[in-house]
Amino acid sequence: MRIALFGAPGSGKGTQAAILQDRYSLRQLSTGNMLRAARDAGTRVGLAAKSYLEAGKLVPDDVVCGIAYDALSKCGFDNFVLDGFPRTIAQAEWLDLEMEGVGGGFRLVSLNVPHDAIIARLSKRRMHPVTGEVFHLEFNPPPEDLDTADLIQRKDDRPATIEQRLRIYDIQNATIRDHYADQGSLIEVDGVGSVQTVAGRIAASLSL
Ligand code: AMP
Repeated sequence: MRIALFGAPGSGKGTQAAILQDRYSLRQLSTGNMLRAARDAGTRVGLAAKSYLEAGKLVPDDVVCGIAYDALSKCGFDNFVLDGFPRTIAQAEWLDLEMEGVGGGFRLVSLNVPHDAIIARLSKRRMHPVTGEVFHLEFNPPPEDLDTADLIQRKDDRPATIEQRLRIYDIQNATIRDHYADQGSLIEVDGVGSVQTVAGRIAASLSL
């Protein structure tokens, strides 16, 4: 199975991709996580991506396609759920070519969540600096023994940066969806609701 989850930052892509990974033995390939890991490790790719990541801007296509290629190769271009890729039409066209090369069908699941709900979600999102676990101060609070003061807010989850990321998403959104709708591989899912409700909708839409 070859899936990409597409949605605004904070639409729940990462959470839902992790569920698909666990339930259906797919490999979650999150370009955001890969780029952050590369930045933290100070690799060449990480250094190229750093300023874009922190400003909430899209990392150049050649850099992102490079890390996507490495990740897809490791899982034999099958049984994956891409999380946060493709995000531009150039990335979508690159992925189409790679998928054609392996003769594989591919579906894009678009998670639809209104902006006001996203801003509420992201501004209270916190991450554990060591484990990478993600919490929401209101909807998914950390366990009692974890001091919230130890959690960090991603630089790109600050309000001004969230707005910038949503603006970028809006620009790409229509183009990417049209591209996959024309191919007949777009699946639209309502992303508002509990994690389990949305997971159920995704599974139903993919006939899992
Ligand atoms: P995410 O964790 O998916 O919200 O991604 C966090 C950040 O990583 C984005 O704001 C971009 O700076 C960068 N990024 C992740 N995926 C991509 C992509 N497919 N194309 C360009 N930049 C990306």
